[in-house]
Amino acid sequence: MSVTENIKQIRAVIAETAARSGRPPSSVRLMAVTKTVDDERIIEAIKAGIDIIGENYVQEAKRKRDSMDKSLEWHLIGHLQTNKAKLAASLFDMIHSVDRMELARELDRRARAAGLIVKILIEVNVSGETTKSGAPLAEATALVRAVAALPNLSIQGLMTMPPFCDDPEEARPFFRRLRELRDEIETERMPRVEMKELSMGMSGDYTVAIEEGATIVRLGRTIFGERPPRQLKQGE
Ligand SMILES: *Cc1c(COP(=O)(O)O)cnc(C)c1O
Repeated sequence: MSVTENIKQIRAVIAETAARSGRPPSSVRLMAVTKTVDDERIIEAIKAGIDIIGENYVQEAKRKRDSMDKSLEWHLIGHLQTNKAKLAASLFDMIHSVDRMELARELDRRARAAGLIVKILIEVNVSGETTKSGAPLAEATALVRAVAALPNLSIQGLMTMPPFCDDPEEARPFFRRLRELRDEIETERMPRVEMKELSMGMSGDYTVAIEEGATIVRLGRTIFGERPPRQLKQGE
């Protein structure tokens, strides 16, 4: 199937799943994750109505953003090295992968220098897998409190990646835990903290994520097809 048909079908699934969960379809936004995808297919996705692009790598996003429609939102979803904070702060509409204070401080400093307020999500490692990025679950609320004190960052919510599993139902407890954490943090009513976004759900498990409250689902393979095995590029 073409990218356009895939997107149409996914939108129908999102609408149906949201409705079944008692949520308006507009409460779930579809992000197209474009790592390794060629520009031609990204442009097809944009023509089919995609308005959030999710990028894993800062340099790749810069090249693409310079050459494409300026009205789109570009979100960083991949791990961010502190030494790329300057470019990331000015390039992205939202950064989903803020998981440590050192990075938050540097982003805040760079945002202030550029005269920007940068929207961020706090990435939480709900499963505790050592190979995953994300703040440990037990430290996430303290991190939100600390980041909330940085004037040039605006916390919009939380992001997570559950462990890889074949059965999407296995991801449900991790999505649910992130939603509960969002609700817990919300009760603190911290200044500059809006807990409105839950960025969770990928190709294999996005319907379960929507049932558990996702507001942004991040889809790559169901839109663009399987990715080739990843090759590391210079400067990543
Ligand atoms: C690659 C990636 C996705 C999309 O994964 P698919 O399985 O292709 O849908 C979502 N989120 C992050 C952080 C990713 O790196």
